[in-house]
Amino acid sequence: MLPSVDELMHSPRVSALTADHGHAAALDAVRAVLERLRREIGSGELDDRGVDLALSNLEVAVEGQLRQDLGYSLRPVVNATGVILHTNLGRAPLAEVALEHVRQAGAAYSNLEFDLKSGNRGQRDVHVEHLFRKLLGDNYRRGEVSTKSTGLGSARRGGPVPRQAAVSTIVVNNNAAAVLLALNTLAEAGEVIVSRGELVEIGGSFRIPDVMTKSGAILREVGTTNRTRISDYARAFNDRTRLLLRVHRSNFEITGFTKQPSVDEMVTLSRDRGVPLMEDLGSGALFDMRAIGIIGEPGLLDSLRSGVDIVTYSGDKLLGGPQAGLISGRQDLVARMRSNSLFRALRVDKLTYAALEATLLAYVKRDHDAIPALRMMRLSKEEIGNRAEALRARFAPSPWRVAIVDGESIIGGGAAPSAVLPTRLLALSCKDLSAEELAARLRTSDPPVIARVAEGRVLLDLRTVFPEQDCSIADVVNRIGP
Ligand SMILES: *Cc1c(COP(=O)(O)O)cnc(C)c1O
Repeated sequence: MLPSVDELMHSPRVSALTADHGHAAALDAVRAVLERLRREIGSGELDDRGVDLALSNLEVAVEGQLRQDLGYSLRPVVNATGVILHTNLGRAPLAEVALEHVRQAGAAYSNLEFDLKSGNRGQRDVHVEHLFRKLLGDNYRRGEVSTKSTGLGSARRGGPVPRQAAVSTIVVNNNAAAVLLALNTLAEAGEVIVSRGELVEIGGSFRIPDVMTKSGAILREVGTTNRTRISDYARAFNDRTRLLLRVHRSNFEITGFTKQPSVDEMVTLSRDRGVPLMEDLGSGALFDMRAIGIIGEPGLLDSLRSGVDIVTYSGDKLLGGPQAGLISGRQDLVARMRSNSLFRALRVDKLTYAALEATLLAYVKRDHDAIPALRMMRLSKEEIGNRAEALRARFAPSPWRVAIVDGESIIGGGAAPSAVLPTRLLALSCKDLSAEELAARLRTSDPPVIARVAEGRVLLDLRTVFPEQDCSIADVVNRIGP
């Protein structure tokens, strides 16, 4: 016989829960638990023993229901996949300095749009624009970027300062918004020339042709999927042409019989015709990826130095900051975007500015290790291997087979699609349990541990695990026994 709602509410344990969490929440939980049990009995799901068991555990069930009702849905997880910028796991984790600055900016009032000197209304962009200028403008002039082995090299790289000596930057909600705003501002009702090989879809919802349509610009496709020549672009020009667009192929590569004009050829064409060149970089590294052994990935500075007029990129990919879309480039063009009313609709809040400002400041101070994504990229295979050994030693004796093997971490998030970093993996297997089942147990534990499954084994890559989380992996593995 099921107790009444009232009876259960007055049981000692639920009374204590009511005192802690309030009457309304406890009542909701009690009703949900009783309703579920009534349903399970009605449908014949539970036999007599099952019903007895459920009845003797009602108060525990209420406590569980309450924890679920009042707990957060968005929870931290341990990312043991080795994918550094994992879109489904929130891309770049924020730097401690960024979190601290977000706390300060969010907890109190700030000078977000207030000029402290004059007491007048200010602009929210000012908080990051000077930092972008330092990072993009200064580097630019000093020519710090190596001109070697970009795969795109030419005389223009490292040559004289291109005409847009001071680079302007504005911030919107994400890179999709950045592309939308840029296309709408520069090419509404006009044509944009894009190679057929670059009409990409990213993450299932960002498709260049769709964004183009929404922006009011008309897509003018040229070339073929695998080969586009500069002459294909040249032939497509007419008096409605407003923009030349290059899109970084973030998540795939075309290999074999391929051709794509160099940035320099496109810059030359755009200047000859007096039509701006825009590049959707997607990731846009602010550091030199060659330093971590990744060749051929165009950096933000490479593009700007080459003379690309406008680049768009994400804040939470290789930059390692908060979700944001950044538009950097020629001052006059960026100024037009700033005064577009779409910009107001796509602007970001004080928390994003705070996180972005702190992240950029870490770059200015050359404190790359403060930025978790960059720190993870720079970890050596040996360091990761040592941590894997130490972690294995913490596993209790169990039926798991645990091996440490060579493998590859993935940058993800639309960096060079084939760019991988050598790593060491913990490979778990068990003859009584499938790898999928084991991965599911890791995923549903507390904290959830997300792993890769390959060739019948669960693979844990500590590159993307914060060292202080290593022990929670040991706890979870020791708890979930087969
Ligand atoms: C990731 C990516 C986007 C979308 O960026 P969001 O910040 O996720 O909106 C657009 N273009 C390219 C080339 C990308 O790699």
